[in-house]
Amino acid sequence: MPRKPIPLISTYELQPSTPAPYTPDDAYGDVKPRTFWQYLPALAVVILILLPHPSYLIMLVDYHLRTRNDPIAFTIHLIIAYTLTFLAFSSFIICISRDPGVVQQPEVSDEDTHALLTPADDDFLSPGKWCRKCWAPKPERTHHCSTCGRCVLKMDHHCPWMASKCIGYNTYPAFVHFLVSCTLLALYIAVVSIFALIYAFSNPYALANPSSTPIHEIFLAFDGLIFLLVMGSFLGYHIYLISTNQTTVENISHFFLLRYLPSPSEESTSDAQPTSRRPLAFPPMEHELSYQQRTLVRAAHGAIHIYDLGFSQNWAQVYGWSGRRGWMNKLLNGGSS
Ligand SMILES: [Zn+2]
Ligand SMILES: [Zn+2]
Repeated sequence: MPRKPIPLISTYELQPSTPAPYTPDDAYGDVKPRTFWQYLPALAVVILILLPHPSYLIMLVDYHLRTRNDPIAFTIHLIIAYTLTFLAFSSFIICISRDPGVVQQPEVSDEDTHALLTPADDDFLSPGKWCRKCWAPKPERTHHCSTCGRCVLKMDHHCPWMASKCIGYNTYPAFVHFLVSCTLLALYIAVVSIFALIYAFSNPYALANPSSTPIHEIFLAFDGLIFLLVMGSFLGYHIYLISTNQTTVENISHFFLLRYLPSPSEESTSDAQPTSRRPLAFPPMEHELSYQQRTLVRAAHGAIHIYDLGFSQNWAQVYGWSGRRGWMNKLLNGGSS
């Protein structure tokens, strides 16, 4: 005899008043269209990457060709700086053009609807397993982005600098690749310009143009150091996140762990098997906790990384590849293998 279907959520008022916004037709794009203004920060990123290059070229010609008469060093510095610039742009283009992570929705006929909503196969009653905005199943680590108006697989964060797109499962390696390329570019420009600056101050009469102030070297040294500090900090944070298998959303959500508390009723049942434990259907909200409980949850959040598989496995999840030349894509743009 077929089991009586259990309703997904018994409170009927949670049903959306308008038709479900998430259909297979729009599952491959953001539900909310982007405006022109949302592209401006991406344009600012392009300008910021290109901004030091005229000064960098002038410095290389002035210092390495005209003053030091060293075309080999000139060529090496040119190739390294432009390779890093190319790598930064290749991953930047991937981040703004690729879908961050489509949640494949199962095709369900009307007859199957109840079967889908039955928590026997997967506990859709659990928090985080069902998106009440898309009205669709939500796989583990998927989050709903209110700016994009859709669910994103393994969403890391919504990035206004990447043409207001989410960084998710498909674009996170490219995003970290972008941070690495920008940090290395800033470091390289800072080091080369600081060496040229030191030379200019210690050997003023050896310069090709002794009367001029080394203004380009000063600008590049400041620009390089500021970007090294900013991009390097972000990179360090994401290295920590990858090493501990966390996303930014999970890391900044201190009460994220509450979702995974076992149900007290099942916990108290003496014959309950560990496998039968389910997270609380309705975990306590932050404001319902006492001060001590909140402190405890915060401390636990810092110490417990529930997706941590060990350092190498965590990195393999983001930067592993399966194809024969998969490493090439990872190296060139942080793209798929
Ligand atoms: Zn959603
Ligand atoms: Zn988003």
